[in-house]
This record gives sequence, C-alpha cells and structure tokens, in this order.
Amino acid sequence: MTNYSYSRLSQFRFCPFAYKLCYLDRVRVADNVEPFTGKRVHEALERLHSLLRAGSDAPLDEVMAFYSKKWDETWSAGISLPEGATAQEFRDKGVRCIKNYFYSHSPFDDAETLSVERRVSTRLGAYPFIGVVDRIALRPDGVHEVHDYKTNAALPEESYFAEDFQLPLYQLALQREFGWNEVELVWDFVALDREVRVRKSTASLEKAERTALSLVHSIEETMDDNIFLKNDGPHCKRCAYAAHCNRG
Ligand code: SF4
Repeated sequence: MTNYSYSRLSQFRFCPFAYKLCYLDRVRVADNVEPFTGKRVHEALERLHSLLRAGSDAPLDEVMAFYSKKWDETWSAGISLPEGATAQEFRDKGVRCIKNYFYSHSPFDDAETLSVERRVSTRLGAYPFIGVVDRIALRPDGVHEVHDYKTNAALPEESYFAEDFQLPLYQLALQREFGWNEVELVWDFVALDREVRVRKSTASLEKAERTALSLVHSIEETMDDNIFLKNDGPHCKRCAYAAHCNRG
C-alpha cells in the first residue's frame, strides 16, 4: 500500500499527469536552485539545534561552517538557476535565512526543543500517511509548537494558513501519538525573518483531514483507471516536468 505524504498529495493536486511522471514513471529532472537552497537551510537549522543541545559555545560560527561545507559538497553544475541569477545569490540567501533564524530566536530560551526532523505517521482512513516535522518544541506554558521552516521569498496569502493541510496533519499525527492537548502551528519564514502562528480548532483539523483523504481517494481511483489528466494552466510555468509533457 502506498505511503502517502504531503508532497505526493500536493503533486497530484498540482497536476495528476505530473504526479504520474514523478511517482510512477520516476522521471528524473534537473534539480532547481530554490529547493536545493531550502534543503541546505533545513540541514543547517537541524545542525544548529543539535549544537545548541550539545552546549556549543559558538553555534552560529559552527553552523555557518557546516552550511558552507554542505553547499560545496552538494552543488553541481546541473542545478538550474533562474535566468540572470547566480549560484552565489542563492548561497547568500541561505546565509541570510540562517542568520535571521538565529538572531530572532537567540538565546533560544523561549521553548525547549524536543526534536528536529521528527518522522510522524498516522492514517488517512485505511491509508498510511507519513511526514517529517522540522522542529517540535515545548513552551513553559505547556503548549507544544510544531514548526515548519519556509525559505519563500514572499508570505503566502492568508487563506494558505487556513486551508493548507500539511501542518494540521502533522499536528493530528502527534496528538494521536502523544495525546497533546494544546498545540500551536508555527511557520518560520526564515528568508523574510517572519513567523506565522496558528492554533487550529478541532473542526479545522477535521477539515484538513477530509481534504487530504479526498485527495488520496482521487489518486486511488486515478490509479485504478490509469488515466492521469493534464492540469494545463498558468502553473505549468512552474512545473518541473514541463519538458516531459506534450501538453495542449
Ligand atoms: S506542464 Fe502542466 S500539464 Fe504538463 S505535467 Fe506540468 S503541470 Fe501538468
């Protein structure tokens, strides 16, 4: 049985044909610098929290050295850049993201970090759902925080925080595992030095679960019929599989 994840469900919602190319045909596409930078920043923030837990005297210096080393080790000439942009601009953006996060949270005494890059799992009806939470923290007032790091260049519309189902599903998974009562979802927009905090009602959590389950059912039905429609539209400009799709 398929292990569903937020990425799978979002890819199907973006375009069923792109889902097929990605998850069934396993078409390889060139890495893009934006997700590449996002991955390096996530690794660096994971390392930062490990250093803080280990009592490092100079966590920022150590994490910057780590980021630089990882960037050099993983960068390759095949990674695609927007027209006119340079790899250095994105490398510098990563540095800014890490510094923004560090300086806005230092001395890191507002909440205790319980885990980073924590795997979570639950069920959507009969189907397994898995995910990874960037950071889980416990505040002195007993509220658990579920964090997601974002390297977006702009804040999403307000409706995103009401309707996106990723963090609500992670919250449900953690509540089912640990029975936590009070949970706050935190989106850390590290490139913008902003955070958005939301407490979800039971009704919104149920709505998020229904949305995700409905996507799972659509995927299962589409797999049975083996007809993956092309969702042609303006978003095709952002599609990593456009070169493999003879659309229109
Ligand atoms: S280019 Fe458009 S129609 Fe083709 S796979 Fe991508 S999103 Fe779907």
